[in-house]
Order: sequence, then structure tokens, then C-alpha cells
Amino acid sequence: MSGFSKSIFTKYSRPGGRYSFSPATKSWNCADIRAKIETQKQIINSMFSATKVGIYIHLPFCPRLCTFCGCNIRVSQNNEELKLYLSALSKQLDLYLNHVNSQTLEQKSLECIYFGGGTPNVFSPEQLGQFTQQVLQKMADKNISPSQDFEITLEADPRLDVKDHLDQLSLFGKTKISIGIQDLNTKVTNNINRIQRPEHILKTIEEINKNYELHADLVYGLAHQDKDSFVSGLKEVISTKICGISLYPLVPVPWQQKAQKAFGENSNIDAEKKAEIYFASAELLKNESYFQLGFGHYTKKESKLFQSFSNQTLFRSPMGYHKSLHYTLIPLGVSSIGKTDYKSSEQSWLVQSEKVYEKYMHSVLALEEVPFIRAHELEIRDKIQNEVNILISTRNEIDKQTLKNLEDIDQTPTDQRVKGLIIDGLLSFDTTNSSVIITELGRHFLKDICHSFQIQSIL
Ligand code: SF4
Repeated sequence: MSGFSKSIFTKYSRPGGRYSFSPATKSWNCADIRAKIETQKQIINSMFSATKVGIYIHLPFCPRLCTFCGCNIRVSQNNEELKLYLSALSKQLDLYLNHVNSQTLEQKSLECIYFGGGTPNVFSPEQLGQFTQQVLQKMADKNISPSQDFEITLEADPRLDVKDHLDQLSLFGKTKISIGIQDLNTKVTNNINRIQRPEHILKTIEEINKNYELHADLVYGLAHQDKDSFVSGLKEVISTKICGISLYPLVPVPWQQKAQKAFGENSNIDAEKKAEIYFASAELLKNESYFQLGFGHYTKKESKLFQSFSNQTLFRSPMGYHKSLHYTLIPLGVSSIGKTDYKSSEQSWLVQSEKVYEKYMHSVLALEEVPFIRAHELEIRDKIQNEVNILISTRNEIDKQTLKNLEDIDQTPTDQRVKGLIIDGLLSFDTTNSSVIITELGRHFLKDICHSFQIQSIL
């Protein structure tokens, strides 16, 4: 891979913020909106005034905690608890709909439902099917109907049953699935309290692969990992002809430190070993004809995501890559994040639901209050920043006009931003010297490139 070296990897591949939305939650301008009913109504109406909407549903339950995990999860499979949570989700949607002004409700299209987790497949196929039916009905009552391209995505744990869940959800629209594998080496996964049998996981992938678009996540940086073992596991995953593979670097999170210390060997591998694993895996995926969408994200050229990349409609959100360009995302569930499409709504917001499970349930079921805790109304500079980040994450190019918008607002000349990145081969100018192109090497370092194009006042 031209220009790829361990020194470049260790220089650039540093932990940093997420760039799927901007600004980060710590910089939001409405730090507490719990009692601000009017602001909540404004946010809800801005979300429901968009012509295209999607729904993100956070299902936090997991059978046990994998000690590396940074998601908002709750260890439980208790069916009574699961049922109560589904009723809270349904109530949350009702609370939104009660606040929606009638003029907001012209005909709109529903682009997607995304079940994220946690482990959504701890719910039964029937529970997920009935809940989906309910959501579609409530939306249809308000003139929001599935678009032609409507799609359901299920995040799932391949250690549990999943095929029936997919068959059930596909009754409502095209369904795709994203599974966490992390690593196929049991010494690595046992150490993070994740007990799994590689042969079972590979069999599950093969079974699902026949009918559904399947993406798998692997994590590098965990204790006991090394290049040969990781790549050998990756080869086995590739041999299933899986559609998409994402390689995530381990990001230690402070709130998981106690769990990590209480279980397993908490000596994760060093930056050099991480670089070796990433480098070898990226090389293998390229040789196996996977196309690199962005840092660590690979897809087959037959996939919808690749088509979207080619048509320039690929989109990046907190849930990953999507085939449709801009739409508003309505959040349901504990800690869920929503956003208004800043291209089609006058007022654009980012918003987050209550993060503490008990408080979320109390707020929705007992108090019957919209469980928003904080929000951010996007200003012009935020819209420009989000536009730049989307172009970097999905187009490999920042056009002349966007660069000018950025320069106007930040007073930082593009030359100054890109100098070091051009020297290191991550970026180049196009032939007319006006657009900035992300090179093949640069695609491995999109976070760092986003960071270089960060508007200073948002940092
Ligand atoms: S990695 Fe997945 S299964 Fe494990 S705790 Fe996190 S969300 Fe649950």
C-alpha cells in the first residue's frame, strides 16, 4: 500500500472525537432542556417537518457485559423488563406525536428504522416484529409512510438466534444486519468476558449471508491479539463472502475501567502492534477486492453502500454508513441521539435522550415527559462543519465552494490546514488547485483529516 508505514500510522492514528455529527455533546448550546417544554416542542417539530425521516431505536439489553464495550448497555434478558422497555419506546413516540403541529404533517417519507444496541436480538422475533408494526402504524397515522427504498437495519449478536428476527423484519421492508464479532481467537474474547465459539459464528454468517446484506465488526487493540492470529480470523470471515467488514480500534472508555479491572487482563496491546494488525488487515481486504469506504470500513462492490458511494449519495451518521443522503433521525430509547436534517429544515437540532436507564423509564412512563436532556441548535458554522465532515467521510473530496465557506468563517487559509497532510501524502489538490482530494492513503486517516478541517471556535 503506497506510503503506508507504521510511523505514519502511529503519527496519525490517535484517539480523538467522533466526526459523524458536530459539535460533540460536551459543546452543545442547550446543556439541560429537561424542563424546557417549548424548546422540546421546537425540536420535535423541526424533526417532523423534514421531508425524509429515519428512526433510531436504542435497545440496550445484553446477556452479559463484554468488558471492552463503550455502549450504553444494561445486562438483562428478563422478559418483563424487555416488555416494559418496548412500552416506554412506544410511549416516547406518542409523546413526540402529541407535540407535532398539524401543519408539520404533510406527506413525508420514512427512509429507515435502525435497531441499535446493546443486543437487539435479545428480544424475540415476534416482539421486534410487533413493535415495528406499531411504529409504522403510528407514523402512517401522521402521514409518514415508508419510501420505496425503506430499509430496516438490525444490529445483532451472532451468538444468539438471529435468522428468524431478520425473516420477521423483512416482512416490513428490505432488511440488513450488522453483527459484532470482535475477534475469532477465543483467548482474546474470553479475556473480555465474551464467550463465543468461532465455528458457530461462521456458520451463522453463512446462513444469514444467503438472504441478507451482512456487515461484521472486528476490534483490534485488545489484550492477547497479534497480527497472525487476527489476520487468520479475518481470512475465515472473508471466506464466508460477507458483504461488509469494519475494523474498529479499541477505544478505552473511563466508565468501563472498573469492569475492565474486575475481569480479564487489562493490558491492551501497544500502538506498534495495533499498526501491524491494521496494516496487514487493510492489505488483505484490498487484495480480496473489498472497497475501502473510509477508515476501517470495507464493502464489496456489489453492495448498496458501494453503489451509493459511486452515486455520491453515501451518508455517514452516528450509526455508520448509509445509502441515502440527508434525512432527519428521530431518536427513541435511552441515550439515543437524534438530528434534524440541516439541509431541509429551517431550524436544525441535535438532541439526546436521557442516558440513565432508570431515569429514562421514569421520565417516559411515570412522568409522561419527553426524555430529552440536552440539545444543540445548529448555527451556520456547525452546518459548514458537518458538510465538510460528510464530504471527507463519504466523497474523498472537499469542493472549492465548501473550502471557501470554511475559510470565510474560520479565517484559516486551506493551504495552512493541509500543508503537513500533503507532505505526508494524505491529501492533494486537484489539477485546478481548487478542490482538496483525499488520497488512498488518506482514507485510513479520515478522523485526523476531519480534525485538521475543524473550525477553531467549535473545538
Ligand atoms: S460488545 Fe455488544 S454484546 Fe458485548 S456488551 Fe457491548 S453491546 Fe453488548
